[in-house]
Amino acid sequence: MSEKIEVINIDENSDMSTNYTKKRPKIPQELYAYEDIKKIPIQDILSDEEIEIYENEMQKKIEVKPLGSNKLVVVTKATRLCNLRCSYCHSWAEGKNNTMSFSSLVAMTKRILDIPDLIRIEFVWHGGEVTRLRPEFFMKFIWLQQHIKRDNQFVTNAIQTNAVNISEKWIELIKRLNISVGISLDGHPEINDSRRVDLKGIGTSKRIEKTIQTFRNNNIKYGGLVVVDRLILESNKRELLDYFARIHLHDLVFLDIVPDNRLLPGESPGDSYINYFEYMDFLSELFLIWWKEYKDTINIPLFNSFVGVLKGASNVLMSCYWSEKCHQEVVTIEPNATVSACDKYVGSENFYYGSLLDNDLKTLLENSIHYEKSEKEEIDNNNNMKNCQWFNLCHGGCPQTRISNRKHNKMYSDTLACCGTDKLLNTISGVL
Ligand code: SF4
Ligand code: SF4
Repeated sequence: MSEKIEVINIDENSDMSTNYTKKRPKIPQELYAYEDIKKIPIQDILSDEEIEIYENEMQKKIEVKPLGSNKLVVVTKATRLCNLRCSYCHSWAEGKNNTMSFSSLVAMTKRILDIPDLIRIEFVWHGGEVTRLRPEFFMKFIWLQQHIKRDNQFVTNAIQTNAVNISEKWIELIKRLNISVGISLDGHPEINDSRRVDLKGIGTSKRIEKTIQTFRNNNIKYGGLVVVDRLILESNKRELLDYFARIHLHDLVFLDIVPDNRLLPGESPGDSYINYFEYMDFLSELFLIWWKEYKDTINIPLFNSFVGVLKGASNVLMSCYWSEKCHQEVVTIEPNATVSACDKYVGSENFYYGSLLDNDLKTLLENSIHYEKSEKEEIDNNNNMKNCQWFNLCHGGCPQTRISNRKHNKMYSDTLACCGTDKLLNTISGVL
Protein backbone atom coordinates (compact mmCIF):
# COMPACT_ATOMS: atom_id res chain seq x y z
CA MET A 1 0.00 0.00 0.00
CA SER A 2 0.96 3.59 -0.07
CA GLU A 3 4.17 4.68 1.56
CA LYS A 4 2.39 7.92 2.36
CA ILE A 5 0.20 6.88 5.15
CA GLU A 6 -2.20 9.27 6.74
CA VAL A 7 -1.85 9.33 10.48
CA ILE A 8 -5.00 10.05 12.36
CA ASN A 9 -5.00 12.02 15.55
CA ILE A 10 -4.94 9.22 18.09
CA ASP A 11 -6.66 11.32 20.74
CA GLU A 12 -9.70 11.13 18.51
CA ASN A 13 -9.59 7.41 17.86
CA SER A 14 -12.93 5.90 18.70
CA ASP A 15 -11.29 2.49 19.19
CA MET A 16 -9.42 3.80 22.19
CA SER A 17 -11.51 2.09 24.80
CA THR A 18 -11.98 -1.26 23.13
CA ASN A 19 -9.40 -3.11 25.16
CA TYR A 20 -10.58 -1.59 28.42
CA THR A 21 -14.29 -2.14 28.38
CA LYS A 22 -15.44 -4.39 31.18
CA LYS A 23 -19.21 -4.52 30.66
CA ARG A 24 -19.08 -7.53 28.44
CA PRO A 25 -22.79 -8.31 28.02
CA LYS A 26 -23.62 -4.84 26.67
CA ILE A 27 -20.87 -4.63 24.08
CA PRO A 28 -20.73 -6.49 20.74
CA GLN A 29 -18.60 -9.59 20.95
CA GLU A 30 -15.98 -8.39 18.45
CA LEU A 31 -14.95 -5.57 20.80
CA TYR A 32 -13.50 -8.24 23.05
CA ALA A 33 -11.21 -9.71 20.44
CA TYR A 34 -8.18 -8.12 22.09
CA GLU A 35 -9.03 -9.64 25.45
CA ASP A 36 -9.87 -12.97 23.83
CA ILE A 37 -6.49 -13.06 22.13
CA LYS A 38 -4.80 -12.15 25.42
CA LYS A 39 -6.40 -15.17 27.05
CA ILE A 40 -4.93 -17.63 24.56
CA PRO A 41 -2.44 -19.80 26.51
CA ILE A 42 1.13 -19.12 25.46
CA GLN A 43 1.71 -22.65 24.21
CA ASP A 44 -1.34 -22.35 21.93
CA ILE A 45 -0.14 -19.22 20.17
CA LEU A 46 3.66 -19.38 20.20
CA SER A 47 5.96 -22.22 19.10
CA ASP A 48 8.53 -23.57 21.59
CA GLU A 49 11.22 -21.49 19.92
CA GLU A 50 9.07 -18.37 20.08
CA ILE A 51 8.27 -18.96 23.74
CA GLU A 52 12.00 -19.06 24.45
CA ILE A 53 12.56 -15.81 22.52
CA TYR A 54 9.63 -14.16 24.33
CA GLU A 55 10.76 -15.26 27.79
CA ASN A 56 14.35 -14.15 27.13
CA GLU A 57 13.15 -10.74 26.02
CA MET A 58 10.93 -10.36 29.09
CA GLN A 59 13.87 -11.07 31.38
CA LYS A 60 16.16 -8.46 29.82
CA LYS A 61 16.71 -5.41 31.98
CA ILE A 62 17.03 -2.57 29.52
CA GLU A 63 16.86 1.07 30.51
CA VAL A 64 14.10 2.77 28.53
CA LYS A 65 14.06 6.56 28.78
CA PRO A 66 10.88 8.68 28.75
CA LEU A 67 10.04 10.00 25.30
CA GLY A 68 8.73 13.41 26.32
CA SER A 69 5.41 12.70 24.63
CA ASN A 70 2.51 10.61 25.89
CA LYS A 71 1.42 9.44 22.43
CA LEU A 72 3.14 7.75 19.55
CA VAL A 73 2.15 6.41 16.14
CA VAL A 74 4.32 3.44 15.19
CA VAL A 75 4.18 2.72 11.47
CA THR A 76 5.12 -0.96 11.63
CA LYS A 77 6.67 -2.22 8.42
CA ALA A 78 5.82 -5.83 9.10
CA THR A 79 6.98 -6.58 5.56
CA ARG A 80 8.37 -4.60 2.66
CA LEU A 81 7.29 -7.34 0.23
CA CYS A 82 4.44 -6.32 -2.01
CA ASN A 83 2.19 -7.85 -4.65
CA LEU A 84 1.94 -4.54 -6.55
CA ARG A 85 4.39 -2.32 -8.41
CA CYS A 86 2.83 1.13 -8.20
CA SER A 87 4.65 3.50 -10.50
CA TYR A 88 5.42 6.18 -7.88
CA CYS A 89 6.29 3.87 -5.01
CA HIS A 90 9.66 3.78 -3.22
CA SER A 91 8.45 1.47 -0.44
CA TRP A 92 8.39 -2.09 -1.70
CA ALA A 93 11.41 -4.39 -1.56
CA GLU A 94 12.20 -7.92 -2.69
CA GLY A 95 14.25 -10.77 -1.30
CA LYS A 96 15.16 -12.03 2.14
CA ASN A 97 15.04 -10.10 5.40
CA ASN A 98 12.17 -7.89 4.30
CA THR A 99 9.68 -9.40 6.73
CA MET A 100 9.80 -8.89 10.49
CA SER A 101 11.11 -11.89 12.41
CA PHE A 102 9.42 -12.95 15.64
CA SER A 103 12.43 -11.84 17.68
CA SER A 104 12.31 -8.35 16.12
CA LEU A 105 8.56 -8.24 16.70
CA VAL A 106 8.92 -9.05 20.41
CA ALA A 107 11.84 -6.67 20.95
CA MET A 108 10.11 -3.85 19.07
CA THR A 109 6.83 -4.29 20.95
CA LYS A 110 8.60 -4.42 24.31
CA ARG A 111 10.88 -1.42 23.71
CA ILE A 112 7.93 0.69 22.57
CA LEU A 113 5.47 -0.30 25.30
CA ASP A 114 8.14 -0.01 28.02
CA ILE A 115 8.55 3.72 27.36
CA PRO A 116 7.52 5.10 30.77
CA ASP A 117 5.55 8.18 29.71
CA LEU A 118 3.76 6.65 26.71
CA ILE A 119 0.03 6.28 27.24
CA ARG A 120 -1.48 6.14 23.75
CA ILE A 121 0.17 4.02 21.14
CA GLU A 122 -1.17 3.28 17.70
CA PHE A 123 0.50 0.55 15.64
CA VAL A 124 -0.22 1.02 11.95
CA TRP A 125 0.33 -2.28 10.14
CA HIS A 126 2.09 -1.15 7.02
CA GLY A 127 4.21 -2.46 4.19
CA GLY A 128 4.84 -3.36 1.43
CA GLU A 129 1.58 -5.18 1.71
CA VAL A 130 0.82 -6.59 5.15
CA THR A 131 -1.87 -8.98 3.94
CA ARG A 132 0.91 -10.95 2.23
CA LEU A 133 1.70 -12.15 5.75
CA ARG A 134 -0.44 -14.74 7.47
CA PRO A 135 -3.02 -13.31 9.92
CA GLU A 136 -1.39 -15.46 12.64
CA PHE A 137 1.57 -13.04 12.62
CA PHE A 138 -0.75 -10.26 13.75
CA MET A 139 -2.58 -12.48 16.25
CA LYS A 140 0.82 -12.94 17.88
CA PHE A 141 1.45 -9.22 17.68
CA ILE A 142 -1.83 -8.46 19.48
CA TRP A 143 -1.09 -11.16 22.05
CA LEU A 144 2.31 -9.57 22.70
CA GLN A 145 0.84 -6.08 22.97
CA GLN A 146 -1.78 -7.26 25.44
CA HIS A 147 0.74 -9.09 27.60
CA ILE A 148 3.39 -6.38 27.57
CA LYS A 149 1.39 -3.16 27.86
CA ARG A 150 0.79 -1.46 31.19
CA ASP A 151 -2.75 -1.14 32.55
CA ASN A 152 -2.75 2.60 31.91
CA GLN A 153 -1.77 2.29 28.25
CA PHE A 154 -4.21 2.48 25.33
CA VAL A 155 -2.98 0.43 22.41
CA THR A 156 -4.77 0.53 19.08
CA ASN A 157 -4.06 -0.96 15.69
CA ALA A 158 -4.89 0.08 12.13
CA ILE A 159 -4.09 -1.44 8.76
CA GLN A 160 -3.02 0.12 5.51
CA THR A 161 -3.55 -2.15 2.50
CA ASN A 162 -3.76 -2.13 -1.28
CA ALA A 163 -6.92 -4.25 -0.84
CA VAL A 164 -6.12 -6.35 -3.88
CA ASN A 165 -6.00 -9.86 -2.49
CA ILE A 166 -7.36 -10.19 1.04
CA SER A 167 -8.08 -13.72 2.19
CA GLU A 168 -11.14 -14.80 4.16
CA LYS A 169 -8.92 -15.39 7.19
CA TRP A 170 -7.75 -11.81 7.00
CA ILE A 171 -11.31 -10.55 6.73
CA GLU A 172 -12.16 -12.59 9.81
CA LEU A 173 -9.26 -11.12 11.80
CA ILE A 174 -10.03 -7.53 10.79
CA LYS A 175 -13.65 -8.08 11.76
CA ARG A 176 -12.80 -9.63 15.11
CA LEU A 177 -10.44 -6.84 16.02
CA ASN A 178 -12.86 -4.20 14.77
CA ILE A 179 -9.97 -2.16 13.42
CA SER A 180 -10.18 0.33 10.61
CA VAL A 181 -8.60 -0.26 7.25
CA GLY A 182 -7.02 2.30 4.98
CA ILE A 183 -7.35 1.37 1.30
CA SER A 184 -5.03 2.87 -1.29
CA LEU A 185 -6.93 3.78 -4.46
CA ASP A 186 -5.95 6.61 -6.79
CA GLY A 187 -9.27 7.62 -8.33
CA HIS A 188 -11.34 6.03 -11.04
CA PRO A 189 -10.02 3.09 -13.05
CA GLU A 190 -8.57 5.14 -15.92
CA ILE A 191 -6.22 6.82 -13.47
CA ASN A 192 -5.78 4.20 -10.78
CA ASP A 193 -5.02 1.44 -13.28
CA SER A 194 -2.38 3.52 -15.00
CA ARG A 195 -0.20 3.47 -11.87
CA ARG A 196 -1.49 1.03 -9.22
CA VAL A 197 -0.66 -2.19 -11.02
CA ASP A 198 0.27 -5.72 -10.04
CA LEU A 199 3.42 -7.63 -10.96
CA LYS A 200 2.03 -8.29 -14.44
CA GLY A 201 1.20 -4.62 -14.94
CA ILE A 202 -2.54 -5.25 -14.62
CA GLY A 203 -4.67 -2.52 -13.02
CA THR A 204 -6.21 -3.10 -9.62
CA SER A 205 -9.50 -1.15 -9.52
CA LYS A 206 -11.87 -4.03 -10.05
CA ARG A 207 -10.23 -6.12 -7.32
CA ILE A 208 -10.28 -3.18 -4.91
CA GLU A 209 -13.96 -2.53 -5.61
CA LYS A 210 -14.65 -6.19 -4.85
CA THR A 211 -12.77 -5.93 -1.55
CA ILE A 212 -14.79 -2.85 -0.62
CA GLN A 213 -17.94 -4.84 -1.20
CA THR A 214 -16.59 -7.61 1.06
CA PHE A 215 -15.77 -5.04 3.76
CA ARG A 216 -19.30 -3.68 3.52
CA ASN A 217 -20.80 -7.14 3.79
CA ASN A 218 -18.76 -7.70 6.95
CA ASN A 219 -19.33 -4.27 8.54
CA ILE A 220 -15.64 -3.48 8.45
CA LYS A 221 -14.66 0.18 8.88
CA TYR A 222 -12.63 1.40 5.93
CA GLY A 223 -11.51 4.57 4.21
CA GLY A 224 -9.55 5.49 1.11
CA LEU A 225 -6.13 7.08 0.62
CA VAL A 226 -5.56 8.87 -2.66
CA VAL A 227 -2.15 10.03 -3.83
CA VAL A 228 -2.55 13.37 -5.58
CA ASP A 229 -0.22 13.62 -8.56
CA ARG A 230 -0.52 15.56 -11.84
CA LEU A 231 -3.12 13.20 -13.33
CA ILE A 232 -5.37 13.51 -10.28
CA LEU A 233 -4.73 17.25 -10.11
CA GLU A 234 -5.87 17.68 -13.70
CA SER A 235 -8.78 15.25 -13.47
CA ASN A 236 -12.43 16.22 -13.22
CA LYS A 237 -12.95 16.52 -9.43
CA ARG A 238 -16.68 15.99 -9.60
CA GLU A 239 -16.19 12.75 -11.51
CA LEU A 240 -13.58 11.74 -8.95
CA LEU A 241 -15.94 12.20 -6.00
CA ASP A 242 -18.78 10.66 -7.95
CA TYR A 243 -16.73 7.53 -8.55
CA PHE A 244 -15.79 7.21 -4.87
CA ALA A 245 -19.42 7.65 -3.84
CA ARG A 246 -20.48 5.02 -6.39
CA ILE A 247 -18.10 2.38 -5.06
CA HIS A 248 -19.00 3.26 -1.44
CA LEU A 249 -15.66 4.77 -0.50
CA HIS A 250 -17.19 7.37 1.76
CA ASP A 251 -14.16 8.36 3.82
CA LEU A 252 -11.24 9.89 1.96
CA VAL A 253 -7.76 11.21 2.56
CA PHE A 254 -5.86 13.00 -0.20
CA LEU A 255 -2.07 12.94 0.14
CA ASP A 256 0.48 14.82 -1.91
CA ILE A 257 2.81 12.69 -4.02
CA VAL A 258 6.31 12.18 -2.62
CA PRO A 259 9.21 12.64 -5.02
CA ASP A 260 12.23 10.35 -4.85
CA ASN A 261 14.01 11.69 -1.77
CA ARG A 262 17.40 10.75 -3.20
CA LEU A 263 17.09 13.48 -5.84
CA LEU A 264 19.24 16.57 -5.44
CA PRO A 265 17.93 20.13 -5.80
CA GLY A 266 17.48 20.88 -9.47
CA GLU A 267 17.08 17.23 -10.49
CA SER A 268 13.71 16.51 -12.07
CA PRO A 269 11.12 14.84 -9.82
CA GLY A 270 9.27 13.57 -12.92
CA ASP A 271 6.11 14.65 -14.70
CA SER A 272 3.74 13.23 -12.11
CA TYR A 273 5.13 15.40 -9.30
CA ILE A 274 3.06 18.35 -8.11
CA ASN A 275 4.33 21.00 -5.73
CA TYR A 276 2.57 22.15 -2.55
CA PHE A 277 0.89 25.13 -4.20
CA GLU A 278 -0.61 22.83 -6.82
CA TYR A 279 -1.70 20.43 -4.09
CA MET A 280 -3.46 23.31 -2.33
CA ASP A 281 -5.08 24.35 -5.64
CA PHE A 282 -6.37 20.79 -5.97
CA LEU A 283 -7.74 20.71 -2.42
CA SER A 284 -9.36 24.13 -2.76
CA GLU A 285 -11.16 23.17 -5.98
CA LEU A 286 -12.16 19.82 -4.52
CA PHE A 287 -13.43 21.48 -1.35
CA LEU A 288 -15.86 23.75 -3.23
CA ILE A 289 -17.41 20.79 -5.09
CA TRP A 290 -17.47 18.64 -1.96
CA TRP A 291 -19.01 21.39 0.14
CA LYS A 292 -21.82 21.95 -2.35
CA GLU A 293 -22.57 18.39 -3.40
CA TYR A 294 -20.88 15.71 -1.32
CA LYS A 295 -20.36 16.87 2.24
CA ASP A 296 -23.32 14.84 3.48
CA THR A 297 -22.26 11.65 1.73
CA ILE A 298 -18.46 11.68 1.77
CA ASN A 299 -16.33 12.33 4.82
CA ILE A 300 -13.06 14.09 4.04
CA PRO A 301 -11.51 14.47 7.51
CA LEU A 302 -9.11 17.15 6.34
CA PHE A 303 -12.01 19.35 5.22
CA ASN A 304 -14.34 18.47 8.08
CA SER A 305 -11.73 19.16 10.72
CA PHE A 306 -10.77 22.56 9.23
CA VAL A 307 -14.47 23.42 9.01
CA GLY A 308 -14.96 22.38 12.65
CA VAL A 309 -12.02 24.45 13.86
CA LEU A 310 -12.88 27.49 11.76
CA LYS A 311 -16.44 27.39 13.07
CA GLY A 312 -15.12 27.11 16.62
CA ALA A 313 -16.83 23.76 17.08
CA SER A 314 -13.60 21.83 17.61
CA ASN A 315 -9.94 22.42 18.29
CA VAL A 316 -8.60 19.19 16.80
CA LEU A 317 -7.21 18.82 13.29
CA MET A 318 -7.31 15.24 12.06
CA SER A 319 -3.95 14.92 10.37
CA CYS A 320 -0.29 14.79 11.21
CA TYR A 321 0.26 17.44 8.52
CA TRP A 322 -0.82 20.20 10.89
CA SER A 323 0.52 18.80 14.14
CA GLU A 324 3.82 20.76 14.24
CA LYS A 325 5.65 18.05 16.14
CA CYS A 326 5.20 14.98 13.99
CA HIS A 327 8.88 14.01 14.34
CA GLN A 328 8.16 13.43 18.05
CA GLU A 329 4.93 11.56 17.51
CA VAL A 330 5.44 9.35 14.44
CA VAL A 331 8.14 6.74 13.86
CA THR A 332 8.52 3.96 11.34
CA ILE A 333 9.91 0.57 12.32
CA GLU A 334 11.52 -1.55 9.61
CA PRO A 335 11.26 -5.36 9.46
CA ASN A 336 14.67 -5.60 11.18
CA ALA A 337 13.56 -3.22 14.00
CA THR A 338 15.47 -0.27 12.59
CA VAL A 339 13.73 3.00 13.40
CA SER A 340 13.26 5.89 11.04
CA ALA A 341 11.10 8.98 10.77
CA CYS A 342 7.80 8.93 8.92
CA ASP A 343 8.12 6.77 5.79
CA LYS A 344 7.52 9.83 3.63
CA TYR A 345 11.25 10.52 4.15
CA VAL A 346 12.29 7.11 2.79
CA GLY A 347 15.53 7.40 0.84
CA SER A 348 16.58 10.74 2.32
CA GLU A 349 19.96 11.26 3.96
CA ASN A 350 20.32 9.90 7.52
CA PHE A 351 16.83 8.46 7.25
CA TYR A 352 17.55 5.63 9.69
CA TYR A 353 17.90 6.36 13.41
CA GLY A 354 19.36 2.97 14.35
CA SER A 355 17.96 -0.28 15.69
CA LEU A 356 15.61 -0.85 18.61
CA LEU A 357 17.56 -4.06 19.18
CA ASP A 358 20.53 -1.93 20.28
CA ASN A 359 18.96 1.08 21.97
CA ASP A 360 15.73 2.48 23.34
CA LEU A 361 13.75 4.88 21.18
CA LYS A 362 14.68 8.08 23.02
CA THR A 363 18.40 7.31 22.76
CA LEU A 364 18.00 6.63 19.04
CA LEU A 365 16.18 9.92 18.57
CA GLU A 366 18.73 11.87 20.62
CA ASN A 367 21.58 10.53 18.51
CA SER A 368 19.88 10.96 15.15
CA ILE A 369 21.13 13.61 12.74
CA HIS A 370 17.79 13.43 10.94
CA TYR A 371 15.85 14.06 14.15
CA GLU A 372 18.12 16.97 15.08
CA LYS A 373 17.63 18.48 11.63
CA SER A 374 13.85 17.99 11.91
CA GLU A 375 13.83 19.90 15.20
CA LYS A 376 15.86 22.73 13.71
CA GLU A 377 13.73 22.80 10.56
CA GLU A 378 10.62 23.08 12.72
CA ILE A 379 12.04 25.98 14.74
CA ASP A 380 13.20 27.82 11.59
CA ASN A 381 9.83 27.24 9.97
CA ASN A 382 8.00 28.55 13.02
CA ASN A 383 10.14 31.68 13.02
CA ASN A 384 9.66 32.28 9.30
CA MET A 385 5.93 31.81 9.18
CA LYS A 386 4.69 32.73 12.65
CA ASN A 387 3.16 35.97 11.38
CA CYS A 388 0.89 34.23 8.90
CA GLN A 389 -2.74 34.63 10.03
CA TRP A 390 -3.25 30.87 9.70
CA PHE A 391 -0.05 29.70 11.33
CA ASN A 392 -1.62 28.58 14.60
CA LEU A 393 -3.87 26.30 12.59
CA CYS A 394 -1.64 24.68 9.99
CA HIS A 395 1.87 25.22 11.44
CA GLY A 396 3.30 25.25 7.94
CA GLY A 397 1.96 21.82 6.94
CA CYS A 398 3.96 18.63 6.52
CA PRO A 399 7.71 19.16 7.10
CA GLN A 400 8.67 16.56 4.53
CA THR A 401 6.61 18.43 1.94
CA ARG A 402 8.44 21.64 2.85
CA ILE A 403 11.78 19.91 2.30
CA SER A 404 10.66 18.55 -1.08
CA ASN A 405 9.41 21.97 -2.10
CA ARG A 406 12.72 23.61 -1.24
CA LYS A 407 14.27 21.16 -3.70
CA HIS A 408 11.72 21.03 -6.48
CA ASN A 409 9.45 24.08 -6.32
CA LYS A 410 11.08 27.22 -7.67
CA MET A 411 8.26 29.36 -6.27
CA TYR A 412 8.78 28.08 -2.71
CA SER A 413 11.00 30.09 -0.40
CA ASP A 414 11.62 30.24 3.32
CA THR A 415 11.13 33.98 3.12
CA LEU A 416 7.47 33.51 2.15
CA ALA A 417 5.06 34.70 4.80
CA CYS A 418 2.90 31.59 4.30
CA CYS A 419 3.57 27.98 3.35
CA GLY A 420 0.70 27.97 0.84
CA THR A 421 -2.06 26.47 2.98
CA ASP A 422 -3.71 29.93 3.01
CA LYS A 423 -5.26 29.15 -0.38
CA LEU A 424 -7.27 26.27 1.11
CA LEU A 425 -8.05 28.01 4.40
CA ASN A 426 -9.26 31.15 2.61
CA THR A 427 -11.44 28.97 0.40
CA ILE A 428 -12.93 27.14 3.35
CA SER A 429 -13.50 30.22 5.47
CA GLY A 430 -15.04 31.91 2.43
CA VAL A 431 -18.00 29.53 2.40
CA LEU A 432 -18.64 29.35 6.15
S1 SF4 B 1 0.87 -1.32 -2.89
FE1 SF4 B 1 1.89 0.04 -4.29
S2 SF4 B 1 2.35 1.90 -3.04
FE2 SF4 B 1 1.95 0.20 -1.62
S3 SF4 B 1 3.96 -0.70 -1.18
FE3 SF4 B 1 3.03 -1.87 -2.86
S4 SF4 B 1 3.88 -0.96 -4.71
FE4 SF4 B 1 4.15 0.52 -3.02
S1 SF4 C 1 6.46 14.08 7.72
FE1 SF4 C 1 5.09 14.38 9.49
S2 SF4 C 1 3.36 15.59 8.71
FE2 SF4 C 1 4.44 14.71 6.94
S3 SF4 C 1 3.33 12.80 6.50
FE3 SF4 C 1 5.07 12.31 7.84
S4 SF4 C 1 4.25 12.34 9.94
FE4 SF4 C 1 2.80 13.42 8.59
